[in-house]
Amino acid sequence: MTPFTYFISDLHLSADREDINHCLFEFLHEKAVQADALYVLGDLFEVWIGDDDQNSFTLSIAKAFHALSQSGVPVYFIHGNRDFLIREPFAKQAGFKILPEQVVIDLYGEATLIMHGDELCTKDIDYQRFRKKARSWWWPRIMLSLPLATRRKLAIKGRAASQQKQSKLSADIMDVTPEEVLNTMQKFAVKRLIHGHTHRPAIHELVINSQAAQRIVLGDWYEQGSVLKVSKDHIELTSMQF
Ligand code: MN
Repeated sequence: MTPFTYFISDLHLSADREDINHCLFEFLHEKAVQADALYVLGDLFEVWIGDDDQNSFTLSIAKAFHALSQSGVPVYFIHGNRDFLIREPFAKQAGFKILPEQVVIDLYGEATLIMHGDELCTKDIDYQRFRKKARSWWWPRIMLSLPLATRRKLAIKGRAASQQKQSKLSADIMDVTPEEVLNTMQKFAVKRLIHGHTHRPAIHELVINSQAAQRIVLGDWYEQGSVLKVSKDHIELTSMQF
């Protein structure tokens, strides 16, 4: 079998979506075990209020990822805008390694930039302002020092406000800014970018400095399990039915 690597993102896991969780368990157990590595590019969880929010659901997810890494498949995680409060204790439980928010990996000889992708949506000024604060050293520290019950209330309030705001934003604002994509890819000197976040799965062919380039967007898991499989000569964006 040709060696390959899997990428997933935007699963938005929660205790009340058994269908998604089941699809993930099957994917990890049957498919991901054959991969060279699995990269989770953010928004693994619908919401994450701290590694101390332990319950049977989070434990079952951690256990499934841990089993995969124990079987010899390294698992890497990049924070999304929903689960940027995941820290070392949960990473250890789940057996995955947390990567920086933007990182270049060597994917069978092709330098590939990977990220969650929310940083590319620069037209959403309010969100970018929040992101800057949320990713600062002080904001997570204050948040995580609050009691769990308070964090839970704040998360519900924040989610409602964000949903209300998103319903008013145009599709254009919620997608990536094309110029930001080009600038970022040039900055990292790559011809391939893989990200999630926008829930618009696609393989976009681009031209950067007169050279062919690609932006691959992973899909979300609300309706089906979206998976990207990359080998040396082949890129496949597929979906698994629940
Ligand atoms: Mn996201």
